[in-house]
Amino acid sequence: MTSNIGYEYVNEESINHALKCTICDQPFIRPVSTNCKKKHKFCRHCIEQWLKRNSSCPKCRQILHSEDLISITEDIVVDVLNELRVKCTACGQTGLERGDFNNHIKHSCPSIIVTCPASDIKCSWTGPRRQLDNHLKRCSYEPLRPLISSLVSENQALKEQVSQLSRHMKEYHREMQHIKEQFHQYINRLDRQHSETAQSRHVSARSLITSTYQNVLI
Ligand SMILES: [Zn+2]
Ligand SMILES: [Zn+2]
Ligand SMILES: [Zn+2]
Ligand SMILES: [Zn+2]
Repeated sequence: MTSNIGYEYVNEESINHALKCTICDQPFIRPVSTNCKKKHKFCRHCIEQWLKRNSSCPKCRQILHSEDLISITEDIVVDVLNELRVKCTACGQTGLERGDFNNHIKHSCPSIIVTCPASDIKCSWTGPRRQLDNHLKRCSYEPLRPLISSLVSENQALKEQVSQLSRHMKEYHREMQHIKEQFHQYINRLDRQHSETAQSRHVSARSLITSTYQNVLI
């Protein structure tokens, strides 16, 4: 249940037991206090995991819920925990302050695997930090940064132009559809008008023929 992956305590047995969590038996990580009579203390992670399966304090069995946990933020406790000495299990450096360990990993641990600073411009080198300086002397991407950067931004600008053009094409297509529909409606109307006119001409022609025929009969 320990969350101290990456370091081990220096002289762990000499660390005061009052600073240790009884669940993981390690110095507290993000300590919390319970509302038990004796205000028992645990790492937040340890007690939260415990409360998923139980609803009482592991030390005194008093009913306990995760809402009852109070973070311990007193400077004296936080400082003492931060100042505990640890050894980096990756590079073996010892005497580091626990509170500084994340900085050690992020910025100086020589054994941590890092990527080339030119990874943003596609250098795929990755290796332990201690080899980075050597790589940078030979990295073929970093010297090309100004050229690659300008190509990347040019490419970006072109992509924007293409997407703008495709937006315009869509609008144009919609407009054309609209014009086509209007045109069809217009043609249909013309057709109707034309056939109505033809019909009325036909009717008058027929009545003319009929009347002529009648005149002949008379
Ligand atoms: Zn713990
Ligand atoms: Zn308790
Ligand atoms: Zn290290
Ligand atoms: Zn590189």
